[in-house]
Amino acid sequence: MVEFFSPTWDDIEEQIFRIARKMATESFYPDVIVAILTGGVIPAKLFADILNMKNIKYIDIKFYRDVNQTDSKPVIRAVYVNDLENKKVLVVDDVSDTGETLEAVTNVISMFSPRLIRTATLYVKPWSRKIPDYFGEQVGKWIIFPWDKWDVVRSNPEAPVAKKEKYFELHEIFSKMKG
Ligand code: 5GP
Ligand code: MG
Ligand code: MG
Repeated sequence: MVEFFSPTWDDIEEQIFRIARKMATESFYPDVIVAILTGGVIPAKLFADILNMKNIKYIDIKFYRDVNQTDSKPVIRAVYVNDLENKKVLVVDDVSDTGETLEAVTNVISMFSPRLIRTATLYVKPWSRKIPDYFGEQVGKWIIFPWDKWDVVRSNPEAPVAKKEKYFELHEIFSKMKG
C-alpha cells in the first residue's frame, strides 16, 4: 500500500519561499533556469518570478514508471537549451526520488560549458542518491502535486485525489476520440 502526500498550493508556495530565501542568504542568483519537463515547469515559473528573471529553458526527460516502480534509467527525449556557456544555471524539478533525473540533466547541461550548475527541487526523498543543492523538505511518500494529480490517478485509481470522477469521465471521452 503506497502512502501518499498531497501538498496544497499553499505548501508549495512555502517550499518555494524557503528555497528562494536560502538562495538569497547565499547570494546565489542564476543567469538561467532549466526546468525539467513537465513537473519542474510550474516551480521554475514561480522561482523565475521571485528572482525577477525570464530566462527559462527546458529539458524533456522521462523516467518511465508508475508509483514506486523504477526502470533502470531516465530517457532524455529533447533538450531545449541554448546559450549556457559560462552561465550560472539553476536546474528545477518538483521532486528528486532516486536522483537519476537530476544526475542525467546535470550531465547534459555540463556539455554546454556553464560556469556552474545548482539544482533545486521542492521535495526530496530520504533515499535519494543526489541531494539537490536546494530543497524544501524531505518526504518519504509518493507526492501528488496539484499539477500531476490526474497523472497519478490514471495509474493509481485508488489514490486520494479530489474530483477524480470528473477526470475519469472526461478522460474516457477523449480517449475514445483519440482512438
Ligand atoms: P528520480 O529520477 O529522482 O528518481 O525521479 C524524479 C522524477 O520522477 C521527477 O521529475 C518526477 O517527475 C518523478 N517523481 C519522483 N518521485 C515522485 C513523486 O513522489 N511524485 C510524483 N508526482 N512524481 C515523482
Ligand atoms: Mg518529472
Ligand atoms: Mg511526472
